Order: sequence, then structure tokens, then C-alpha cells
Amino acid sequence: MENKKIYRNWLDKMELSHPLVIAGPCSAETEEQVLTIAHQLKDTDANVLRAGIWKPRTKPGNFEGVGALGLKWLQRAKKETGMMTATEVANATHVELALKHDIDVLWIGARTTVSPFIVQDIADALKGTDKIVLVKNPVNPDLALWMGALERIHTADIDKLGAIHRGFSTYEKTKYRNNPEWQIPIDLKNQLPDLPMICDPSHIAGRRKLVFDICQTALDLNYDGLMVETHHTPDQAWSDAKQQVTPETLVQMMIDLKVRKKAT
Ligand code: PEP
Ligand code: MN
Repeated sequence: MENKKIYRNWLDKMELSHPLVIAGPCSAETEEQVLTIAHQLKDTDANVLRAGIWKPRTKPGNFEGVGALGLKWLQRAKKETGMMTATEVANATHVELALKHDIDVLWIGARTTVSPFIVQDIADALKGTDKIVLVKNPVNPDLALWMGALERIHTADIDKLGAIHRGFSTYEKTKYRNNPEWQIPIDLKNQLPDLPMICDPSHIAGRRKLVFDICQTALDLNYDGLMVETHHTPDQAWSDAKQQVTPETLVQMMIDLKVRKKAT
């Protein structure tokens, strides 16, 4: 990967406020819900509106997303608020549909990063796009698998590439839903110093009261961005209800967080 073009420029060139803030619901539920949240986030520090429309749930029988229909809602939210949009893609068809609907940021979820064949299919489908692609760490604490997925995407000539740390599964009970194991993303950063690193405190935490401290740790470690699940009525959310915060809480968090000056 060393010979390939550098990663960092894309984020610096966008001249967004630091840190990059990606916010929005775990899942798009209805058009009204997506638009309500988007409008509440519009004039905040959030630069990008996230919403999952294809939801890889651990157990069957849970809400698995509204599907491609949600892409139109994201497009409308973008038109009405000017925010960039982001969604998860878990196969090549998702990529094609997301690109067709002009989604700005495509992220690969933790359950997809573990699968080299699927990541390769996604990489092939991404070829030729200049969209931003973010790769979450695999569910298991395996740095090589995370790096391998990044390399597959980068080899498809995606230069606007970044990593998202969302914590790792463990069988032991810990206070976190997914243990942060901060050393693994630090090791990734040591190997790829120019790769933008984003923290997803929501999936690390599993509970909204832990989200702030995880954000602060990430900022203390010089992360480039935060992806925070945000919902106007979190307790009624169709997925990940316990970890989502309201747009108002996000605004207060961004006031209270101590942000270091961006490393140059
Ligand atoms: C999500 O972002 O809602 C999600 C499903 O995340 P992860 O892949 O980290 O579990
Ligand atoms: Mn979620």
C-alpha cells in the first residue's frame, strides 16, 4: 500500500470543521424520521447525515432496514439541508444503488469487513467512483483483516478512504457493548499514518451515557472524526435504541468536548 497515493489529503482538502462529525440514526425508519433528524442536525457541527438502510442484524427477526427506498429519503434530506449523506453498503448491489442515488459516504460495516470475498466484490463495484469510503474494524480484534479490507478498497483506486473504530466483540462481559481495545487502531495508525481515523462511540458504548467519554478519548488520541448515532426520539428507535443520543445532546457534547488542534 505504501506506493499508493496518500489518504489524508482528501479530508484536509474538504476544509470541513475539525473533527468531522457524522450523525444520524442507526436506521432510516420513515421518510419523516430521516427528514426530522436531518433538519435538527442541519445547523450543528454535524457535517454528514448517516442512516443505515440495509441493517445487518445479529439475530433474524429484527428490523433489517427499509432497503433502497431509504436512498430517496437521504437524497431528499441532502437537498433540503445541504448535508452530505452516508449509508452502509454490504454487497455490490448496495454499492451500485448508493452510487446511483449520489450518496456521498459509503461505509463498510463490521460484519462485512470480516469477509474478504464480499469486500473484494464491494471494491470492484466501487471502481471509478470518487466517493468517500470508510471501513469499520471487523467485529473481531484482527488488525490484519481490517488492513486487508482497506487495502482491497484502496487497490480499487479509492483515494478518499478512512477507517472507523467501532470496538470489538468479546465473550466476556465488559462495560462496553464492543470493547474499544484502543491499541488496535493505534497500531493501524502507526502503519498508515495518513489514513483518517474516525471513532464510532455509539457501537463501542451500547449505552448513551458512555458515549461522551469515548468521544473524548478518541479526540485525545487525535482522531479525525466521530460517528455518533443520533435520533430525535432515541427510546423509540427501531434499532440500537439504548445508544442513540438526541441532536440536542450531540450539540451539548460538541460544546463540552475538548478538541485538540488538528495535527498538521
Ligand atoms: C451501524 O453503524 O449501525 C452498524 C450496524 O454498525 P457496525 O457495523 O459497527 O455494527
Ligand atoms: Mn447501529
